[in-house]
Amino acid sequence: MNSSLDIVDIKINSKNLEMPLFISGPCSAETEEQVMETGRRVAELGIPVYRAGIWKPRTRPGNFEGLGAVALPWLRKLKEETGLLIATEVANAYHIKEALDHGVDILWIGARTTANPFAVQELADYLGGKDVPVFVKNPVNPDIDLWVGALERMNKAGLKKLMAIHRGFSHYSQSPYRNKPHWEIPIELKRRFPNLPIIVDPSHICGRRDLLKEVCQKAADLDFDGLFIESHINPEAALSDKDQQVKPEHLKEILDSLIWREPDISGMNGLKHDMELMRLKIDQIDDEILHIFRNRMDVVGKIGEFKKKNKVTILQTNRWSEILLERKELGKNLGLSEDFISNIFKAIHQESINKQTVIMNE
Ligand code: PEP
Ligand code: MN
Repeated sequence: MNSSLDIVDIKINSKNLEMPLFISGPCSAETEEQVMETGRRVAELGIPVYRAGIWKPRTRPGNFEGLGAVALPWLRKLKEETGLLIATEVANAYHIKEALDHGVDILWIGARTTANPFAVQELADYLGGKDVPVFVKNPVNPDIDLWVGALERMNKAGLKKLMAIHRGFSHYSQSPYRNKPHWEIPIELKRRFPNLPIIVDPSHICGRRDLLKEVCQKAADLDFDGLFIESHINPEAALSDKDQQVKPEHLKEILDSLIWREPDISGMNGLKHDMELMRLKIDQIDDEILHIFRNRMDVVGKIGEFKKKNKVTILQTNRWSEILLERKELGKNLGLSEDFISNIFKAIHQESINKQTVIMNE
């Protein structure tokens, strides 16, 4: 389904920082001192927006679930003292009312809420007619349409100051990441909605401090519009997400290390020419790849006819295991990553099965 979003760019620029938007602050507001001290340090770095969780959607009960509305006056105090804009997560109408009554500037919808269209619709209905920026995190599951759906529900309710936050996706497999980045999903979101700003939350992607820098750089190199990082004056003592929060000095080190490259080369004459030559080469190689796929599928069709005639099953498990193993080995010798080869051959194999299924049933 094609659609477009009616977006008003809120243009919050980071002071002193060569990047579009930076948001930082603790996972949760814990004490007045923690909110104020972390906030002052964040403001000193030139970061324009402070994040802090007031109501925490914890996966299991018994964990710290946020202090609730009692912490909101601290955020207002921080805003008055430093000029920081304040962002917090909301998951129901009561949260929205309390947050807005206490001068919160930006609301965000958490990953667990985005996954629930009933909840999102209720928020959209309540927010309708209010002129507040709303940032929508991706749903916990890698479903781009749920993410788009939540943005559309907000947009239909009249909210135009929208942004998306990429925070990675839940998974059950081994991974160094707490939430797998699946960069192809936010890249697809960017392709579908070029006017929608998308920022990256490396903290919830990584789940651990030591991976943050490389994920931040990746977000910059993929031309996302900003970063949303958890920071805490004393992460070791944090009541939620202690392994992923960084001290303000660590945050500064990450910021200083980032390289923001130029996304648009149309103004750079020499570079543009070189890039065009290389892209021509890529176009030609892709053309060759497509012809090779075509040839392979022709052979797959012939094998399909053969299997049909001789009453042989489409799937030959041993053969498929052999192919995957051999191709990965071959790919490795050519310097191609195992994941890449495995994904490509799984897709090719699936398409071959589809083709032979059609032949079998003709
Ligand atoms: C958070 O930002 O603290 C949070 C709970 O995030 P998410 O909804 O991405 O899990
Ligand atoms: Mn958190």
